[in-house]
This record gives sequence, C-alpha cells and structure tokens, in this order.
Amino acid sequence: METKTKKTGMYENVQVQFNKAADVMKLDEGVRKILSSTNSEIVVHFPVKMDNGKTEVFTGFRVQHNNALGPYKGGLRYHPTLDIDAARALATWMTWKTALAGLPYGGGKGGIEIDPSKYSLAELERITRRFTFALGENIGPDIDIPAPDVNTNAQTMAWIADTFASTKPPSTRFTSMSVVTGKPVGSGGLEGRDRATGFGVVATIKSWAAAKGIELKNKKYIVQGFGNVGYWASHFLKESGAELIAVQDASGTIYNDKGIDPEDLFQYCLTNKGNIAGYKKADAFHASEFFAIPCDIIIPAALGNQITEGNASRIKAVLIAEGANGPTDTIAEEILLSKGIDIIPDILCNSGGVIGSYFEWLQNRRAEIWKIEKVLPLIQEKIDTAFNETVAAAKKHKTDWRTGAYVVALERIERTYKERGVFP
Ligand code: GLU
Repeated sequence: METKTKKTGMYENVQVQFNKAADVMKLDEGVRKILSSTNSEIVVHFPVKMDNGKTEVFTGFRVQHNNALGPYKGGLRYHPTLDIDAARALATWMTWKTALAGLPYGGGKGGIEIDPSKYSLAELERITRRFTFALGENIGPDIDIPAPDVNTNAQTMAWIADTFASTKPPSTRFTSMSVVTGKPVGSGGLEGRDRATGFGVVATIKSWAAAKGIELKNKKYIVQGFGNVGYWASHFLKESGAELIAVQDASGTIYNDKGIDPEDLFQYCLTNKGNIAGYKKADAFHASEFFAIPCDIIIPAALGNQITEGNASRIKAVLIAEGANGPTDTIAEEILLSKGIDIIPDILCNSGGVIGSYFEWLQNRRAEIWKIEKVLPLIQEKIDTAFNETVAAAKKHKTDWRTGAYVVALERIERTYKERGVFP
C-alpha cells in the first residue's frame, strides 16, 4: 500500500471529474465558478502537552467546500497524508455525496496531519480536545458537523462532543452534542451508524448485481483496508454468499483462495493493534500484486489514489466498489472504463455513512433514541434512491456512473442557486 506522506494530488482528480460532469449537463457558468473553489479553509496549529511533559505542536485542517444545501458535513481523519490538497478534495467530494443522497447538507472535511499509532490514548484525547477548541465556532450543529473518517472513531467523536458542549453555555449542553455524528450509542450516537458505510457499500453492490443480472453467491472479492468500512463491507458481502479471498492494509497483504472469514480476521485484528499482518489462516502476499489478484469484485476501503495508471490495466475484477474516498485516479478510471469494468463511484458507494450520520443528527434534534431495526431500512431506502437516480442520469447523458452521480448532485445544487440567487 502506498505510504506517501505528502501531496496526494487528489484535488486535481476532483476538478477533472467535476468539469467532465459540468460539461455533460451544461452547468450554469456562475455555479461552476462557485463550486470550483472551496468556501473556507481553516488551518490551525495547536499545542498539546505529551505524556513525557514536553509540548508538541500539531497541524489540523477543516475545509468547508460548499453549504448551499445545508451545514457543512464530513469526517475528520488522523493521517500523515492529510494536507490542504487532500482536505480540499475530500471536502468537495462530501458536497457531491450529500447532494446525491438528498441530504440537507453541504460538504466539509478535515483532520490532523498525524500518525495516531505513535501516541498514547491519553495523548490522543488531549490532541482531539485541543483541536476541537482550536476549531472554535467554525463547527456547530447548524454550521459544520464532523464525523469519523480514517483513524478516527466513536471515541474521538465523544471527546469532540464533550469538549464542544463543555465550552458552551450549560443550557445548550445537550443540543450542542449534535456538533458531531458517529458518537458512541450512550452519548447520543445512532444504533447502526458503526456499520452504516459498509452496509451501504454492499447495498450498492447488490443493486449493481440486480441491474446486471449477476448472482453474488460464490463471487470472489478482495478488500483494501480492514477498518470500519472494510470490515463491515466484508461482513455484509459474506452474508450475500460471496467469498473474501484477499485483504490488504498498511501492515501487509494476505491471500487465501479458499476464503477468509471476515469475523475471524476481525477478531485477530483486535488482538493485533488493528493490523492484519501475521494472520495465520491466509498466506502473506506481494503488496504490489494485490489489485491484480483474479477476483470478481474489488472494494478499495482505505486511502485515495490507490488504483492508478500503474496497476489499473492488470485488474481482472468486473466491479470496483469504492468504499474509500477517491481510491481511483482519473487516468486509472479511463483505463478501467475502456476495459468495460464497472465502477460504483465513492460518492454513491460509501454514502451509507453520511446517510447514517443524517439520521443520528435528526435523532439528536428530536431528542429521540432510534433502534437499528428502524435505522438500516432508512439508510437502504436513501441509498437505493441515489443508486437509481445515478443509473438513470448516466443513461440519459450516455455517460459513466461517476459522471451520472455528479450530474444528480450538481442539478440539486444548481437549482438551489437559481432559486435563491447570490447575495447581495
Ligand atoms: N467520513 C465519512 C465519509 O467520508 C462520513 C462522513 C459523515 O458521516 O459526515 O463519508
């Protein structure tokens, strides 16, 4: 897996995708200009006291791309590759994702440029709380609502919610908790939000299979990244009768043509700092050969720019289901499309997470507690609608599914600008 620490070049990919869709649908020129840049970019440098008594200074980002449809929404990631370019790209993808899903949100993204494995839990708590404090009034339940992303989780969200609420007047303490989604269930979190992204990934794969008349039973799939998205997608796809045969994460690559049990691997990871390396019921495999493994479905569920010109032509799968944000760069996409390989684009494929977040935010605002039996069908309904609209738009404009998904999102945002105009 790539371990580049700087310059991902992801924002360039977003612009290429955006301009292609804007041309196809003949997007209003003014709206094109507005959406071509981000609304605001917050960079904070903040000090934190380490366990050894010394002070370190960290760099955090929050990029707010557009809020025409509602408050900015999107995750916070803790990763050494996070820079302003990546944050811009990820924030922009969130604008398209929330619009496509029909949610009353815009797009934002951010996090801290950090390798969290190098810090103790107590240090991570202090880093998270101080980052929240540094973001100040730039986030809020009606302003910008962060959520988990790479290397952040429900615990991280609990610290953010508690810090944010603790620095506000006591009368707003509980309404302030909806400043973030993806919280633990005991702290205003939503049952099922933990599995929402993986559930959504598999919902889109099932819709793809139904549209193509393909039976998922016995189909072979490989997954890159075995965090929240990779694990839950593996869990739900296995339930459909498909077989997981290879997994890759930052620690290694493992392969077993006879099948890997996602639950057993997950249990192993719990005892191995979340890493798959050293798992005995599969063989270690060459990292650079991962995407070339003969299989039917690839689920990239880790970082951006993983499927590139360098490996796209060797892919044998018939479907790429983008659990990660931006896993396929624009040159690789052209190669895959020319080979007739289907792609369920990230802004559709992984939208189950933010759809789940929307229901958590609604639950909080209504002071209710919802059960998983209610939540998963609600997510299913929204993602199925987005899938059908994507396929219909792609058909109407005789284009690929990513461009179709962009067209649905852009039409919604364009309509809003036409209705409201630009102030003053
Ligand atoms: N980080 C997730 C994403 O990329 C979830 C965002 C959210 O729930 O706000 O979609």
